Amino acid sequence: MNEFAELADWCGWRAPRESVIVDSLPTPAFRVKNRQYVSFSTNNYLGIATSPRMRTAAIRGIEAYGVGNSDSRLLGGNLALYGELERKIARSKGKSDAILFATGYLTNLGVLSTLPRPTQIARVYGFSGSREYSYAYFSDEYNHISIREGMRLSGARRYTYRHLDLDHLEQLLRQSAATSKIIVTDGVFSQDGDIAPIPDLIGLAARWNAMLYVDDAHGTGVLGASGGGVLEHFNAASERLLYMGTLSKAYGSVGGYVAANGLITEVLRMTCPAYGFTATLPPDQAMVISTAIDIVRDEPERRQRLWDNQRYFVKRMADLNYRLVSTETPIVPIWLGDEEKAEHLARAIREEGMHVDAVRFPAVPIKSARIRIQLNAGHRSEDIDRLVEVLKRHQNLAEPARISVAVTTGSAPAQHVGRKHSAVIGPTPGAFKSRVDDHDPTRARPVSATPARSDARALPPERVRSNESKLDADAECAPNGG
Ligand code: PMP
Repeated sequence: MNEFAELADWCGWRAPRESVIVDSLPTPAFRVKNRQYVSFSTNNYLGIATSPRMRTAAIRGIEAYGVGNSDSRLLGGNLALYGELERKIARSKGKSDAILFATGYLTNLGVLSTLPRPTQIARVYGFSGSREYSYAYFSDEYNHISIREGMRLSGARRYTYRHLDLDHLEQLLRQSAATSKIIVTDGVFSQDGDIAPIPDLIGLAARWNAMLYVDDAHGTGVLGASGGGVLEHFNAASERLLYMGTLSKAYGSVGGYVAANGLITEVLRMTCPAYGFTATLPPDQAMVISTAIDIVRDEPERRQRLWDNQRYFVKRMADLNYRLVSTETPIVPIWLGDEEKAEHLARAIREEGMHVDAVRFPAVPIKSARIRIQLNAGHRSEDIDRLVEVLKRHQNLAEPARISVAVTTGSAPAQHVGRKHSAVIGPTPGAFKSRVDDHDPTRARPVSATPARSDARALPPERVRSNESKLDADAECAPNGG
């Protein structure tokens, strides 16, 4: 117990922690103690969770099957509607098959901990393959914590490459003698809002005979002309791809899946304990998700409004002195660095009837705090104006702007792809502490000056390369949740 008390004291955590109790869920409007708020930090990007079509589907599901599935699908819980949903998901992702899990977190945990193990398990029962297989993961340093936990549990060798640095990735791929290499990346990075370069990653996977696992939790329903996600955004496809998504964000429900070649999904069904040894989604939620896929396809005006709001917010922010971590997706984080400043700003915004998440350690490393703005289809332009006005009044909290660069905003609808905006991004050199710097107590590697994502892009290439040797191949980084 003592170590927990010491740790809590060191972090300034108090028990019991006061979490806000809400009286309704963000649409993005919500209520707390009879006061109305607008959320700028909800994953319900398209406002689908409360739509009449979703409610009707849930009610139909409950009337038909009751409220829960108490069994695993390998035992008595395998209703036909789960298989139908898997086929529908697979079709919508251009894959032959898909496999459902109870949550997105469990999908990453289960699949990534299992992928390197089926041949080992089978050997115990007499399988002898044509050769010995050895596995290695290659993971972007800002991947979601569920990915990193899954890889860790697998016991396979792990290499961490600097955020979006494909030269570094290739260097690590070259170093590895593993027979089976698996590159893993978020499609949209959850705390940073930037997009992984999927076509280049597919190219690298082909060159090094690797598989590519993409977690598109924040891209599904949001990116691409019809909301297909990051693959549609890039018009990318490959047999090497394992496409993972959650059903809790734009799809407004709960659950996760991997869409992949049928061979892989079948092996997972037989060997992944997170699939076989736990109860699956309640049947009404399976029906709801099927409806969500239809809504994403049939109601493009939701996505249109989301992207109109994203562009409007980024345009208005160009006049203010804040650093935006990225402006490519509906996640537009405002960099504060200092935790207290981020909390202060979030409080000031809340006092004006709006909610934003102050994202701080442990969701991101110490001194990397930010306000994570997530635009939503349900925002009105006056909501955005109100937020920008509060931000304007508190500009003294922003670190001074360094560079003004042209960045693309918005990836969907397709007709707007490539529109340019001038926005202030990137931290101040010198004052900036990267996400893998020595302020981060959860970091296992001895790195002092690895450039952070936006900084890495701002640095001249020779400086970026000179830091390469400082990154350990098997590095762990700070948790990245959210
Ligand atoms: N991956 C990423 C990138 C995420 O942001 C999240 C949720 N924050 C998850 C996985 C887990 O998804 P879920 O909440 O649906 O379990």
